[in-house]
Amino acid sequence: MGIALENISKSFGSFQAVDRVNLEIAPGALIALLGPSGCGKSTLLRLIAGLETPDRGRLWLGGQDATHQSVAKRNIGFVFQHYALFKHLTIRQNIAFGMEIRAISAAKIATKVAELLDLIQLNGLGDRYPAQISGGQRQRVALARALAIDPQVLLLDEPFGALDAKVRKDLRAWLRQLHDRTRVTTVFVTHDRSDAMAVADKIVIMNQGKIEQIGTPAEIYDHPANAFVMSFLGPVNILPSSLNIFHQNGFATTAPKMFLRPQDIAIETTANTTTVAANVDRVVHLGSEIQAELALADGQTIVAHLTKERFAELQLEPQQQVFVKPKAAKSFPIDYSI
Ligand code: ATP
Repeated sequence: MGIALENISKSFGSFQAVDRVNLEIAPGALIALLGPSGCGKSTLLRLIAGLETPDRGRLWLGGQDATHQSVAKRNIGFVFQHYALFKHLTIRQNIAFGMEIRAISAAKIATKVAELLDLIQLNGLGDRYPAQISGGQRQRVALARALAIDPQVLLLDEPFGALDAKVRKDLRAWLRQLHDRTRVTTVFVTHDRSDAMAVADKIVIMNQGKIEQIGTPAEIYDHPANAFVMSFLGPVNILPSSLNIFHQNGFATTAPKMFLRPQDIAIETTANTTTVAANVDRVVHLGSEIQAELALADGQTIVAHLTKERFAELQLEPQQQVFVKPKAAKSFPIDYSI
């Protein structure tokens, strides 16, 4: 089922949590709402669920005006960050819960629960209680419970927020596969850019109640609409555009600042007409890459990321003099919210 938000706004007292949001989500899509804490992601999700009512605007579900439809009629599955499983019920009973209150026959419930246990790869654990399985497994049960009512839309609010990094990564891949099989329209709220990039077809970037950009992970990373999006999606050096290094390399602009990803800075050991001198302040091993913190002659500092191979070629040492130039840089007409 498709979802459309038309000029939706929501305030709490004088605070505008969601500000004139327009968004269309295609049937069967998996989209991520990504943004910093307090930007209005959860409020937007709760508006779709019917747990909040908009002050203004309209919400369409499957082409029908659902702005004032009750939560129950929307047929939406919801999963929260903190697994709200019933402690005194087994995994099987937890998954069956939503179907039981809908008075579905016992035989149908048993078949559906078996299917869902298979889908979440927890066959054989149906008779355990939530305390007897891991956090990652509990989140899979929460998803199965949400899917048990055959929802037309699945809403996930920071579903991996409470899990450690390894389990989180596994669950991301698992969620993507699950979605490819079920194709239930899914909206996934996260403040973690790697969660969003790894899982979603499209990412909606929010800031202060508004949408900053909508696009595929590659589109928003490679073509950020503004300085906020670029900075939110990864580390960035922000330098005055008046520095010679930009003119020398054909990045002349009237915008006051230039934005460079750490991997877009080339480091050389010999000078040429396109480089400027820099001093290595610090070298940090980040695992798959090396971070070099460099000081330019005018006191500006920049952070560069190098592959291990390039680092080995350069043999960088603290205090060493090197020569740097930007391989890529962006500027934006208005750079706000940095
Ligand atoms: P987080 O990632 O921290 O959960 P979020 O982007 O999901 O943040 P929301 O939960 O949507 O943000 O909240 C947006 C803003 O609205 C916050 O400043 C929050 O304090 C405020 N807010 C949310 N719900 C209410 C409420 N029921 N009453 C008053 N203010 C609220």
